[in-house]
Amino acid sequence: ALAEADQQVASVCPYCGVGCQLTYHVSDNRIAHVEGRDGPANHGRLCVKGRYGFDYANHPQRLTVPLVRRADAPPKRGDAEMDPSRVMELFREASWDEALALAGGGLARLRDSHGKGALAGFGSAKGSNEEAYLFQKLVRTGFGSNNVDHCTRLCHASSVAALLEGIGSAAVSNPVRDVAKAEVVIVIGANPSVNHPVAATWIKNAVRGGTRLIVCDPRRSELSRLAHRYLQFTPDTDVALLNAMMHVIVAEDLVDRDFIAARTVGYAELERNVAAYSPELMAPICGVPAETIRYVARLYASSKASMILWGMGISQHVHGTDNARCLIALALMTGQIGRPGTGLHPLRGQNNVQGASDAGLIPMMYPDYQRVDNPAARARFERAWGVALDPRPGLTVVEVMHAITRGEVRGMYIMGENPAMSDPDANHARASLAALQHLVVQDIFLTETAYLADVILPASAFPEKTGSFTNTDRLVQMGRQALQPPGQARQDLWIIVEMAKRLGLDWRYSGPAEVFEEMRRTMPSIAGISWERLEREHAVTYPCLHEGDPGEAVVFTASFPRETGRARFVPADIIPADERPDADYPLVLITGRQLEHWHTGSMTRRSAVLDALEPDPVALVHPLDLAALGGRPGDVLTLESRRGRVALYARADDSSPRGAVFVPFCYYEAAINKLTNAALDPFGKIPEFKYCAVRATLG
Ligand code: SF4
Repeated sequence: ALAEADQQVASVCPYCGVGCQLTYHVSDNRIAHVEGRDGPANHGRLCVKGRYGFDYANHPQRLTVPLVRRADAPPKRGDAEMDPSRVMELFREASWDEALALAGGGLARLRDSHGKGALAGFGSAKGSNEEAYLFQKLVRTGFGSNNVDHCTRLCHASSVAALLEGIGSAAVSNPVRDVAKAEVVIVIGANPSVNHPVAATWIKNAVRGGTRLIVCDPRRSELSRLAHRYLQFTPDTDVALLNAMMHVIVAEDLVDRDFIAARTVGYAELERNVAAYSPELMAPICGVPAETIRYVARLYASSKASMILWGMGISQHVHGTDNARCLIALALMTGQIGRPGTGLHPLRGQNNVQGASDAGLIPMMYPDYQRVDNPAARARFERAWGVALDPRPGLTVVEVMHAITRGEVRGMYIMGENPAMSDPDANHARASLAALQHLVVQDIFLTETAYLADVILPASAFPEKTGSFTNTDRLVQMGRQALQPPGQARQDLWIIVEMAKRLGLDWRYSGPAEVFEEMRRTMPSIAGISWERLEREHAVTYPCLHEGDPGEAVVFTASFPRETGRARFVPADIIPADERPDADYPLVLITGRQLEHWHTGSMTRRSAVLDALEPDPVALVHPLDLAALGGRPGDVLTLESRRGRVALYARADDSSPRGAVFVPFCYYEAAINKLTNAALDPFGKIPEFKYCAVRATLG
């Protein structure tokens, strides 16, 4: 196959936020193999997904023609499992003209008869910046509301809320590769070896170079083997642990008084708050010895450069924003931010979740985090887009599902997301989707969400289109087309524009370059990144304010982007998980990802090598818990919460603490989000995927 490849295309990986650059070797409209390129984030490295995760694009189950629900199809039922053999009993093929007329016309009728709040749209963090920008513009100008969101709401929305509040910017302060310049690195609530594998290699290299790695996580990760200290804290006790560390730093006067005085506000209140959180009091709560808490706090505060990286273990709680507030406070009180090798890095999940959020695919902000309820920002976008805009923030992902239940939202347009699998309390989400009067789904496969659609628009896979993507380091990179979409499948940008026309918008875009130029005019942070520059340089870091600006890899060096220029401390207190274990549901369920599979599995489970590596749904259970159930590895286990049940295979795994079960959310046949809790963090509106009560039985 290596010799047969006849075309090489430079692009980026479609999976995680590390943003590895790669070269497709293409032959006969198939990707024969992939090589790592010398990009700023990966320097030639790729993980197993980046090497083997592309044959999904040629999978026989690709959608290749528009589908329309048959007039005589039985009523939609959210509790019906998808049956691929019955698809053509439910749908019929249609021309693009007919499908677009039905898709856009149905949404326009609901808007005109029930008001602008009757519609909502979910875009995708897998799409390009240009697709995200156009999708949110379509919702805001065509639907007439701000009811637009995407999977950032399920990912780092709480981190974003805390960062915007405390620092004034939602993006990372330092790139991952700065770990090489750090004396101390804290990785908390993140498992980079699985979820950001190439980033994990930079951390491992840093450890080899002398960086002291502190891993804090209820689940023991591969990185913890290399850790100078591993703190296996009790699930749900993040604030107790972090406040105790801050207590030590205050009590032992390890704070950076000059930094606090010159660059922050609100410190006195934080100091008062953490006074109650001594390590001795918190140790029994978080399960970490007081002396270890003291040691790690001293190490972090007194090193020349300390950096914090975190993941969903921090963000996916009802106290996710509080968890992130504590991390921000740690960095601010010690002055460990604004220099190389320091700072705050929430590791972004999807390959373009940073860019999609930057482009305004969120209900409370226009592009570049300009608030919809800020009259000056709204006036700017009204001028740019030529229409009056709704001043009210829109509904978030989970709120939309509840609004459907209440009969407020009646129609949706979902592009490249699969809420029937990814939303918490998925049975409720599926019932909501089934209750919609009109659901349009744009995707590459018949997902569990598409199964409930009225119109399905066949879209392009990642290697079938060109666009820009922004990685976790704020690097805007170029993804280039290598394949032609199959059959009548069309590129997403074309579909969005055609949908906009059916909603009454007079849109004409020649391609992603023209969209990106419009984005530059409305987004000061990328004003210096022209499409030509991106094509030439492959990757440019923002903020990049003018054409000659090299971009800023490390930010907050002199001030913070808040009105006062100062960062703000926000104290946090302990708030318990929404649903605690009890006699009926004695175990804690933690959900997440596996190395080989991505999110709801629609791509990686159709990639032959990846699917062969992890083919079946599994629950990772502590060996002693499994023995207590009378079970052995490989036995079928039924997991049940108050909201649903699934059956999967038991895998003995002592990386989880006793009493906790870890389940990946990529398996449709054991859709674990049927069990998860839709309780939300009040600030980020993120659901509590990392904690709910379940019981396990054999068989
Ligand atoms: Fe792709 Fe992330 Fe793996 Fe890099 S680390 S190859 S971006 S999945």
